Amino acid sequence: MKIKAQISMVMNLDKCIGCHTCSITCKNVWTNREGAEYMYFNNVETKPGIGYPKRWEDQDKWQGGWELKNGKLRLRSGAKLTRMAKLFYHPNQPELDDYYEPWTYDYETLINSKRKNHQPIARPRSLITQQRMEIKWGPNWEDDLADGQSARQDVNLRNMGSDIALEFHDLFMKYLPRVCNHCLNPACVAACPSGAIYKREEDGVVLVSQDGCRGWRHCIPACPYKKVYFNWKTNKAEKCIFCFPRLENGLPTVCADTCVGRLRYMGVLLYDMDKVKEAAATPDKGQIYHSVLDIIMDPHDPEVLAAARKEGIPENWLKAAQDSPVYKLVKEWQVALPLHAEYRTLPMVWYVPPLSPITRRAEADVYLPEATDMRIPLAYLAELFGAGNTQVVARALQRLLDMRLVMRAQTTGDRLPARLEFDVETYQAMHRLMGIAKYKERFRIPAGLQETSQEKLHELQGTCGYTCPGGC
Ligand code: SF4
Ligand code: SF4
Repeated sequence: MKIKAQISMVMNLDKCIGCHTCSITCKNVWTNREGAEYMYFNNVETKPGIGYPKRWEDQDKWQGGWELKNGKLRLRSGAKLTRMAKLFYHPNQPELDDYYEPWTYDYETLINSKRKNHQPIARPRSLITQQRMEIKWGPNWEDDLADGQSARQDVNLRNMGSDIALEFHDLFMKYLPRVCNHCLNPACVAACPSGAIYKREEDGVVLVSQDGCRGWRHCIPACPYKKVYFNWKTNKAEKCIFCFPRLENGLPTVCADTCVGRLRYMGVLLYDMDKVKEAAATPDKGQIYHSVLDIIMDPHDPEVLAAARKEGIPENWLKAAQDSPVYKLVKEWQVALPLHAEYRTLPMVWYVPPLSPITRRAEADVYLPEATDMRIPLAYLAELFGAGNTQVVARALQRLLDMRLVMRAQTTGDRLPARLEFDVETYQAMHRLMGIAKYKERFRIPAGLQETSQEKLHELQGTCGYTCPGGC
């Protein structure tokens, strides 16, 4: 058993209002500069839809993530030799049109226009060519199903054989905020010919070394979530850095901190690194989720704690793992699920799936795994969060519904269903964390990592944290 610590995030989709605050605050902090105009480390999509970049979930097109070949795990983009042959031309690169052409507006015309009969207009102007342009697509073009047509091209509908009629009376939608998943088995890291992408030893954050990146761009198609971008100005890859300078100071990421719906949770998970490959190679894709749960270790178990100390995980990290809201949602209550586990990268950003409008169902008290008339079809949610396994999603939704029934019964005095899986106190704790938790309950990030990192650097380099000739 080799225990490692991972900073992880959970998003409760029932509470996302699609306000895009997370995208904008992230953009203002990290990608508001030349070469990065089109990049959104955090973006929010409306589902069903094709998303950003267009059809990112279509791995037949992009060849992203991992696959099992003769029982062995390998990148979908091919074995090493095949990938080397694509070194100078990789056919599966997304282009600017797949994202969108970023633009600004001629604001000056609003300010400097002479007095006229009509209101002056600020026309769009390309941020790439500086020319006037017609806007045809954007990073949230499909907001609230606004595009009208692209929802039908959602890859998940194709995969489930699309027995869903997207007619007006049957329409459903939900928001899906996305960041890099800081995966346990990251395809971006494995695909980089320069070894410039790495997973940080101390907290599992996946970063691109800007010094090491040679601009081969193999990480971009390899990431099945399309969360690595190419900076056309610097010719380097860039990606979400999980706001590591904030983490190092015990603060959550900007997107989590500013989330209006207060739906994001961050904390530490302890996992067994020795079993990562085995979990990623689980033969049945619908069982990958269970394999990942098996390698997330109990932070209260003395054996796990001893193994973690042996790996040098500091005491404040172990305490944070024990108090982790993410551990509760992911492992204890098992209501948070990975996005597209079938890509086999073992994502460490988790989602509490949305419970459809539910009052009628709560009154009817139908057991969800047997329900056929959910507003958001179970089969659709299973494509996103269960690798096609509807039981996984139904079980999480059932627990959410039971939580509501328990809390409702406290006021109405209703009889509780006999099937409850947890005791009443557990449902109350679930309700507190998911409904009304304060900042410090939602984010348990151990401070002092920066000092630890600096100490490690001192150890590694013998002198100080600087790599310049002569050190200090
Ligand atoms: S989501 Fe993509 S970029 Fe992020 S760690 Fe996973 S494979 Fe790499
Ligand atoms: S800030 Fe929060 S509520 Fe708003 S879109 Fe982002 S995740 Fe959703």
